[in-house]
Amino acid sequence: MSRAQNYINGKWVDGSLGTLDMINPSYGSKAGEIARSGKEDVDAAVKAARTAFEGDWGKTDAASRGRLLYNVAQLLEKHVDELAELESKDTGKPMKQARTDATLIARYFEFYAGAADKLHGDSIPFMNGYTVYSQRVPLGVTGHIIPWNYPLQMTGRTLAPALAAGNATVFKPAEDACLAVVCAFELIAEAGFPAGAVNLVTGLGEEAGAALANHPGIDHMAFTGSPEVGKLVMKNSADHIRPVLLELGGKSPQVVFNDADLDAAMPVIVNAIIQNAGQTCSAGSRLVIQKEIHDDVVDELIKRFNNINVGPADTDPDIGPIINKKQLKRVEQFVARAEEDGAAILAQAQKPEGKGYFYPPTLMGRVNNDSFIAQNEVFGPVLTVIPFEDEADAIRIANDVEYGLIAAVWTRDNGRAHRVADAITAGQVYINGYGAGGGVELPFGGMKKSGFGREKGFEALYDVTTVKTTIVNHGS
Ligand code: NAD
Repeated sequence: MSRAQNYINGKWVDGSLGTLDMINPSYGSKAGEIARSGKEDVDAAVKAARTAFEGDWGKTDAASRGRLLYNVAQLLEKHVDELAELESKDTGKPMKQARTDATLIARYFEFYAGAADKLHGDSIPFMNGYTVYSQRVPLGVTGHIIPWNYPLQMTGRTLAPALAAGNATVFKPAEDACLAVVCAFELIAEAGFPAGAVNLVTGLGEEAGAALANHPGIDHMAFTGSPEVGKLVMKNSADHIRPVLLELGGKSPQVVFNDADLDAAMPVIVNAIIQNAGQTCSAGSRLVIQKEIHDDVVDELIKRFNNINVGPADTDPDIGPIINKKQLKRVEQFVARAEEDGAAILAQAQKPEGKGYFYPPTLMGRVNNDSFIAQNEVFGPVLTVIPFEDEADAIRIANDVEYGLIAAVWTRDNGRAHRVADAITAGQVYINGYGAGGGVELPFGGMKKSGFGREKGFEALYDVTTVKTTIVNHGS
């Protein structure tokens, strides 16, 4: 079930600005409604979170927090089918991907349930007569804003570590897709948290989002989305002098050397750009390939791209639609501009009939790494192929973008694999593999303009806590 309400202070309440329609991108039809919220709702949520942090929730010990998170994981697991169906309808994800995402939100809560009571500090050698210890303490009230591309996964990714560490949370998902998130909150509401520990406020970015990002009562902001809004959120955080985590996307290279196992690489390379219709911050969008194998690889990719099945999410295609008309137009404009800049469409899958917002997977050749399409995030299923001469050239091209989120190196030469992985500036580098956004256990986040701060893995807990040192003078 997904209701058009916010979850604030342990209660379901209407949004102060009414409701918003959610659109099913596979058909352009209404998928449901969410609450439309503004400053008043965000104020209530922040106030509830503060009261919880200073009250019952703040007094909940680490093991008990872990148990609550584990309750959430179990409830989510029991409702994977329902969550997946809503996620698929709302985002246009094929059911298989939606099921993976529904399973992963549960996995996030499970992982951080186990981590909650393992976040310990240090005892620090100091002068005679002193005992000194440090503790990892929660920051207080944490704000969370996520985009529409992986609503369920990102809910788990941002909320579970913050709650495990003892923060009280105020969460705003994206207005383009959050029906499954509201459903997940129905289950979070059943898990037994004290009122106000976890709050949901839905609505538009410029209303609910801006109210949260600007709120003086927040102690930490975690934002995933566009660089433009990321900058605003960071400026707001500067005004209030509080830490911020930014995850702003990428232009991730897959570097393929002559000696790579192409049978293994090929399906991974294709999947890394078509997964979620290319709307993945860590999509493998630049294929950086050694000249000698360029033509053979391109021939094989042309066959594969021409055969990708695009369609409405409920028909279980290889890829579904783009999230909305605006994003679809953006992808079309990117490809048109690339052609003007001299790139060529080498292959394009069939676009299905119907009112859905489909963009067929597209392979582009004759791409210069300096060009607009090679430098900017398309957020669509468009793979650009860029040839390189040798190892130094490969590293130069891989790094020659403003982003630094993830990368892959494909080679059978172990020494080269590690040299190139070391030389690439990115938060994650795969060797002979690629997992766009994958791995709950693996620290994830950007370098350069991809942002900063780390989510996932144990590392995420350091971002939502700070260190408090106690110096005890007991005399020698
Ligand atoms: P966006 O940055 O506009 O929205 C992301 C989130 O921020 C949403 O929840 C939105 O409601 C909120 N928001 C919007 N304006 C806000 C404001 N003024 N203050 C506070 N919050 C605000 O991103 P988008 O429109 O969803 O997508 C635009 C582009 O962003 C995409 O084309 C893509 O390049 C990029 N993007 C990146 C990621 C990623 O994972 N890095 C995800 C989605 C989109």
